[in-house]
Amino acid sequence: MAGVVLLSGGLDSTVAMALFLEQNTLDLALTFDYGQRARERELQAAASLAECYGINHKVIKLPFLEEETHTALVDSTQSLPSLKPTELDEVQGRAAVSAHNVWVPNRNGLFINIAAVFAENLPEPSYIIAGFNREEAGTFPDNSQAFIEKINASLSYSTSKNIILFSPTSLLDKTEIVKEGLRLHIPWQFLWSCYTGMELWCGACESCQRLKRALSLNGQEDLIEKLFPQQSELD
Ligand SMILES: [Zn+2]
Repeated sequence: MAGVVLLSGGLDSTVAMALFLEQNTLDLALTFDYGQRARERELQAAASLAECYGINHKVIKLPFLEEETHTALVDSTQSLPSLKPTELDEVQGRAAVSAHNVWVPNRNGLFINIAAVFAENLPEPSYIIAGFNREEAGTFPDNSQAFIEKINASLSYSTSKNIILFSPTSLLDKTEIVKEGLRLHIPWQFLWSCYTGMELWCGACESCQRLKRALSLNGQEDLIEKLFPQQSELD
């Protein structure tokens, strides 16, 4: 079966891509440039990953989304929220505040509908692959099963072909996604999952904290040291 993957270059989209590729092929990987702080790192990561998996890669520039996004994920004058590991599951508390501070207006809805433009030119049924996860669905409703179902209902009207949004990771939490990444031998060295665009992963943002916890729960202390070398120096 054919498909388009939304590839940010982070853990979730990479594992979603690798899971789908176990039994299917992908025609195109899309990465979006909307002025996010990690733009350069994400574009590089996604390009390397797409090449590694032999998939055509296209970057879509969305300058209007940059203009309309006023949160810390894009606006570098605002400080990115940092979370303690104990705060990651506070879906009504600190985790909700963090999600609010990195929100991008209708990001997933927009990306999926752009991907559907490309999917309409593929043989049916064609899939749009996204790296949602159950852990973040509590604070990001556009990662939820309900969202996937509603989008698929919408696509049946807005496109002329059988196009299906599918997220192979949406029922998994971050620890389970890391476990799948290890099983599938994803190229960890190419990933970029940090909200910042610094030389090294910051280790403090919500995305870094969730990944570190998941790696630790999988007994991957060596991989934590490789991905977060500055952290081990500080410890
Ligand atoms: Zn980070």
